[in-house]
This record gives sequence, structure tokens and C-alpha cells, in this order.
Amino acid sequence: MKYQSSRNDDITAGSTAAVLQGMAPDGGLYVSKAFEDLHFDWQATLKLDTYAMAAQILGALLPDFENMEELVRKAYDGKFDSPELTPLKAVGDRYVLELFRGPTSAFKDVALSMLPQLITAARKQEGVRDEIVILTATSGDTGKAALEGFRDVEGTRIIVFYPREGVSVVQQAQMVTQEGRNVCVCAVEGNFDDAQNGVKEIFRTTDLRGSGARLSSANSINIGRLAPQVVYYFRAYADLLDAGRISRGDAVDFVVPTGNFGDILAGYIAKLIGLPVGKLVCASNENNVLTQFLETGCYDRLRPFHKTLSPSMDILVSSNLERLLFLLSDSAAVSGYMQALSEKGSYQISEALLAKIQAQFPCGCCNDLETSETIAEVWNAHQYLLDTHTAVAWRVADAYLAQANSSAPLVVLSTASPYKFPAAVLAALGEDSSQDEFALMRRLQEKTGVPIPAQLAALEQKPLRHKDAIAREDMKAYVLEKVRQTAWIE
Ligand SMILES: *Cc1c(COP(=O)(O)O)cnc(C)c1O
Repeated sequence: MKYQSSRNDDITAGSTAAVLQGMAPDGGLYVSKAFEDLHFDWQATLKLDTYAMAAQILGALLPDFENMEELVRKAYDGKFDSPELTPLKAVGDRYVLELFRGPTSAFKDVALSMLPQLITAARKQEGVRDEIVILTATSGDTGKAALEGFRDVEGTRIIVFYPREGVSVVQQAQMVTQEGRNVCVCAVEGNFDDAQNGVKEIFRTTDLRGSGARLSSANSINIGRLAPQVVYYFRAYADLLDAGRISRGDAVDFVVPTGNFGDILAGYIAKLIGLPVGKLVCASNENNVLTQFLETGCYDRLRPFHKTLSPSMDILVSSNLERLLFLLSDSAAVSGYMQALSEKGSYQISEALLAKIQAQFPCGCCNDLETSETIAEVWNAHQYLLDTHTAVAWRVADAYLAQANSSAPLVVLSTASPYKFPAAVLAALGEDSSQDEFALMRRLQEKTGVPIPAQLAALEQKPLRHKDAIAREDMKAYVLEKVRQTAWIE
């Protein structure tokens, strides 16, 4: 199977090259129209345990990789709470798919545990000698999950920039205590956009040829980050089958708290390769650029940016939507839309394309007050503790169920542990949330009896290892100096 740029049919790459490059050279994203023609044996896959299931699905989507079973085992062994990786819990008459049982308590662990294995395997298979230096700007969750994934992975180093004012206390503690010989964490003055723009600029203007290193990215523009997320849609479906809740072939609806459109797009890829996915409901917070798009066909990023209680969904340019547009139209159309987006800040898709998208992607959004209310409601009704992102999805699910005439089981994707956002969750439960976040974690545990994930509880005692803090204009010099150093641990 060949991948191609979403903006140009003539730019193609095999799956190993696509993973190694991260992004197509014309700025498009690697994607393929061949997903539907894979003749993937989805029914047989449902009978497998999660590792074997992952190896089958990843082997089909990324066929050039050798030894996928071994890569899967190395990615996940001993890192997640449970062997199924992503357990499905019945909560009231819905299901919650817990994607946060990995090493950093956010759903990005599912993909970022796998990506380093894929990158190092691709590097070997493609005969690349250069060390791969991963550059990442993070609004909180990606940075930690990437650090943990790439830690001590041979042939790679990783530099994470986080905005000094933009991450929660818990998220910052997770990053500055990171262990590993090949990891580097640095605060940047300013907000997430400053850090992100700085990283993009470094990619654009830095030529490391001859240095023995090359830059790559760990965010969801990389197809190697998307493919591992397809697996948990199959896992959830198999669990519903095993529980006798559905029969083979029945549709299942999924509600997905969405930012960069990666998680929900993985559900669509699951559907393209055969899984009976019903609706994929796109849930947004007050940064509801996707809600407007799915309702009107107009994507408009020129709008105020809101800092919300669900910060990992605070995003105005939702990169992976480009892949969906390609899958339902063609590269010429996508190229036009993306040009309009960069030149005018907005684009309008055709009526026909909008109708195709709307038939599969219902949508909704909610504000911080509704998010908080939902955390309290679900706790009071079911003694199930939602994090702020999952609460957005739950709230949008309420609205979806009220108007949809669907008898399909509904799965809400849960993307983070409530203990990553203890202040917001405690406040939602009507408690005082003015203490430091570690005290708040303990309060939340006392109140709810839900155990604090061990890795988060241990953070308070860990030594501070990464103290660097720089101005935005010094990011490039910082990276060049770090690439030059042969060892980062004194
Ligand atoms: C990244 C993230 C999301 C959004 O996922 P996308 O793939 O970007 O749509 C939602 N919730 C949490 C907790 C996240 O970290």
C-alpha cells in the first residue's frame, strides 16, 4: 500500500518512509485511498487479544514494517495498567473507553508508546544512519507521553518545549522530572502558540545535513501516530461482542473529545477497513471551530482563542481534518482548501462534500460551566469520575442521544485521568480547590475513593531534572547547541 500527500497525487511514499518523514514535503499529510480496498479480515481480528489485534491492524495499515508483533510487544509490555490496554467500562447505559491507563495517564500514550518503535524500525529498514532528533512543542499531554515513549530508545533523542504559562502544575511536574539519557525538556516564555511557532520555524529553517542528525516530529500529523489509535475502536467493539451486548455486524456509535481530529479520524479509518462503526460524534469545547465546520461547511480559524478547562482540546487549526477531506474528495480540492486557509484564514467546502461528512460525523460543543456540571452529574448518578475532556464528550453525547434516533450502543472515549486536572475536577464536585495540586490529588482521592495513578502520586517526590528556560527567539540556538552535544547527562 502506498501513501501519498493529501495535496498532490504525485508525491508518494511507502509506509516506512511516510513514518520517518512525518509530513509530506509539500506540507500535505500522508494518507491513502486504499484503506477501503485492503480486504482486511476484521471479523477474525476481533477474536484476538489486544497485542495480536494491534499487530494485525498495524500490519495492514503500515505493510512495509517487518516484525510488527515484536514492535507491538516492545511498545506496550509492562507500560499499561492492564493487558487489554484500553478497558471498556459500562457507565449507566453508555460505555466509557478508558484510554488513559498508560504511563502518563493520557490517551496519547497509546500512540506515543508505539511511534518510537515505528520510527526506529523505519530508520533501520530505510538504511538511515542519522540520529533522529524529535522536536515537540506541547500544551501538556503530548510532551510527557512523547518523552516517556522515546526515553532511552536507541538512535533517537527528544527535545520538548513547553509554554511557561500554559501547562498545569501536574503536567509541568511530569515533564521536568523526566528520566532518561536522551531526553531534554525546556520551558519557553509565552503561550503554546509561541512554542509551537518556534518549533515550526526551526523545522522550516534548519538544515542539519552532514551533522549526523535529522529532525522529526511526534505529533499527530505523522501517520505512525494515527495508526495505533485505530486498534482501540476494534478492542471496544470486540469487548461489546464478548459481553453479548451486540451481534457481529451491529453498528456502534462513538463520541470523541476532539482537538486535532486525530483520535476521531482513527475511528473513521477503522470503519474504512471494515469495522461496523456507526456515527462518530465530534465533541468540542468552546473552541468550537469544528462544530461550526460540521454544521455549515465553513472552516474559519479567525476567531478568539479560549483557554478552557479542557486545554488539550484548545486548538483552532485541526490538522487531521485535512486527511478526512482528502478521503472524501481529492487532492486538488484539498490543496485549494488549504491554500485558502493559509491565505484567508478560512475555506468553504462544497455542498456535496459537506453532505458526505455530515452523514457520518454528528457534532456538538459545550462550555466550561456545562463541563463542570457534567462531572458532578455523572459522579452523583454513577460514581464514575470523568476528567474535563471526557466530560465534554459526555455532555455532547447527551445532546446527540436526545435528538438521534439510534439504538446502537454508545461508547464515550475517555482521554485523560481526572488526576491530571485535580483542581478543575474538585471544583466541579463543589470542593475548595485552592491548595497546591498534589494536596488536591489527595483530597480528590479521599472524596471519591478513586485511586491516584501511581506515576502521578510519585511525582511529588521526584527530583527536578530539567531546569532550562529560554526566550522564544533563543529556541533555534538552543536546539543547535543540543544537537551538537554528544551527551546530555553530565
Ligand atoms: C490530545 C487530546 C485530545 C484531543 O485529541 P485529538 O486527536 O487531537 O483530537 C483530547 N483529550 C486529551 C486529554 C488529549 O490529550
